[in-house]
Amino acid sequence: MSKFSAYNFAGTKALIRVDFNVPLDKQTQAITDDTRMTAAIPTIKKILNDGGSVILMSHLGRPKDGPEEKSSLKHLITHLGKLLGEGTPVLFANDCIGEQAFLTSGMMRAGEVLLLENLRFYKEEEKGDEGFAKKLAQLGDVYINDAFGTAHREHASTAVIAKFFPADKKMFGLLMESEVAAAEKVLLKADKPFTAIIGGAKVSDKILILENLLERATDIIIGGGMAYTFMKAMGGVIGNSLCEDDRLETAKMILEKAEAKGVNIHLPSDSVIADKFAADANTSVAPSNHIPDGWMGLDIGVNACNQFSNVLHHSKTILWNGPMGVFEMEKFQHGTKTIAEAVAVATQNGAFSLVGGGDSVAAVNDFGFADKVSYISTGGGAMLEFFEGKELPGIAAMNK
Ligand code: AMP
Repeated sequence: MSKFSAYNFAGTKALIRVDFNVPLDKQTQAITDDTRMTAAIPTIKKILNDGGSVILMSHLGRPKDGPEEKSSLKHLITHLGKLLGEGTPVLFANDCIGEQAFLTSGMMRAGEVLLLENLRFYKEEEKGDEGFAKKLAQLGDVYINDAFGTAHREHASTAVIAKFFPADKKMFGLLMESEVAAAEKVLLKADKPFTAIIGGAKVSDKILILENLLERATDIIIGGGMAYTFMKAMGGVIGNSLCEDDRLETAKMILEKAEAKGVNIHLPSDSVIADKFAADANTSVAPSNHIPDGWMGLDIGVNACNQFSNVLHHSKTILWNGPMGVFEMEKFQHGTKTIAEAVAVATQNGAFSLVGGGDSVAAVNDFGFADKVSYISTGGGAMLEFFEGKELPGIAAMNK
């Protein structure tokens, strides 16, 4: 049993760093996607069910100069109450430190939840200021980090604060535990064959992750816009496809390293090509290394779909980051959809599949495969940095 699950929170005030950085409608301030809030509910409920009380701290948006109406966490109070269910009072402190936060947290009773105002109304939060972290720490008896989405930041509430709690009074929440477990299962304990699918727009964003995966994966599938830089590096002709000319040497280096290490790199044999970057473009199909002038590859082709699906069907561990094409446009979503389907089939046949990092998560959700993969990460940037092999400050701070 995990440290969090084994802990009895009866009579305890638990200070939880959550990631409630949800998108709000610009006009009405209504929450447009509550995924990050729902992800934290099991942690909160366990503490309340034990007979403890909960103090929630989070950032929201990117406030520049202190408090601002549009980034206030007060917009979340009503919805949080709904998610927790009737009978759970949600209190609000219009400052995350200071007298009101201190007095309200001091008077809390078992079963109550207190939501603190936006941490980033203080510059000290992102600076990782110790004095600020200490003031936050005074609000709770136990510190819990359940904000995987900000685990790659060394901020006051995500990392620095941990030093003010002894080892037995700081721990990960359920969400953080499951994110870390899923990431470690893939990165450190993968059953082989282990296939990583890396897609999206740019090679430059994915170099570190590719380099780290060369040490761990048996197969790497490269799709999306970044595939064409690799195609050109290998002497292919790519028309107007996306290409980072200053990364051609990097692409060559990755291909060479892969060969030396015996890692199979799979590039799309064919592409769906378009005469412009637009939803109503004229389309055709061409070998990915032979794209005519004036045309650009915007999705992987049917042969590439089969090629990649075959690799996936033989995989026991799958990591997916980045779409195979411009999936936001209907004409170029077939590749990403087919790969989602292949990942789902492999998962059904016993593979462990983790989808992480921005757009591939959106694609898997949009195409209805969310419950057919093993794990979908809520932490885009944090998951990417984990797969780049970096130590995440939010995780490291708990072990010090
Ligand atoms: P990333 O954030 O790096 O994962 O990139 C995701 C973006 O890459 C999406 O918005 C896709 O539309 C875009 N993308 C995928 N394939 C291509 C392509 N072949 N050409 C241009 N953009 C692409």
